Amino acid sequence: MNTLYSIRMRSAEGGAHEHGGRHISGAERIVDEKTLKIIAQQLIDRALHHSKGTADFINICIEKIEPHQIQYIRPLAVAIYESNTIDESHALAKDLLCQSVSAKAVECAFSFLQSLNTNMRGAILLDSQTGERLDRTGQKGIRVTRMDVIGKHPSYIVTTDNTEIPVNTHLAEALVLASKVQSCKGIVGELCWSDDPDYTVGYVACNGKYHRLQHMKPLGSEIGGRVFFIDSHVSVESVESYLESQAVLVTWQDR
Ligand code: AMP
Repeated sequence: MNTLYSIRMRSAEGGAHEHGGRHISGAERIVDEKTLKIIAQQLIDRALHHSKGTADFINICIEKIEPHQIQYIRPLAVAIYESNTIDESHALAKDLLCQSVSAKAVECAFSFLQSLNTNMRGAILLDSQTGERLDRTGQKGIRVTRMDVIGKHPSYIVTTDNTEIPVNTHLAEALVLASKVQSCKGIVGELCWSDDPDYTVGYVACNGKYHRLQHMKPLGSEIGGRVFFIDSHVSVESVESYLESQAVLVTWQDR
């Protein structure tokens, strides 16, 4: 197998994140050496041409990954739902999450995300029973990194009800992230909506499925967020270490 590299981009406006800059975008891939240059260019373009603004700080980090460090996982199955309003979508999301998480924790997650007035770069970790916040990262959050698919993103996927849907960049990246997150021992659910003002689709992940939900936030809103629900019997440190450091590749086809 070719040597693989993790390449990660984060960009901000008004200076670096650590100096108070406003987060514009972040993205990452795991690719071989000959693809690194192309992906670096794509990530730079993405930072410079984003609907949230133009970055004046771009950080690109490249790290070699040894083959034995990689864990291979399957993607979550994708289920799709029809809904017409934000209220309807949120009610659906709550029902789905309540299969794995207490109603109290679900309400806490919605309150956390709905009270954000600026974007976090990472996710909030909540106790899946009490709804108590478990990470101590403040406004930064826990950033899931070192993940990708093997080869190209698929151009379409077949959902649990046998519908073929096209895969845009949002869906491909979110599905990879959600699949890595759900493969972490101790994580029992996730709630997400995007911070991209043009993209109102969100999802909940639980019970081995990625439940794709329309209208999770108002069109034009620049505030998004993620919450991961943790089983209280598992150490928060082991969850954070897996999410932040374990290299994971999603195999779309059987290997
Ligand atoms: P996005 O789906 O990329 O629009 O991101 C929506 C929100 O999810 C962001 O505002 C962050 O709070 C969070 N987020 C984005 N990327 C990550 C990541 N790699 N790990 C954890 N949280 C993330």
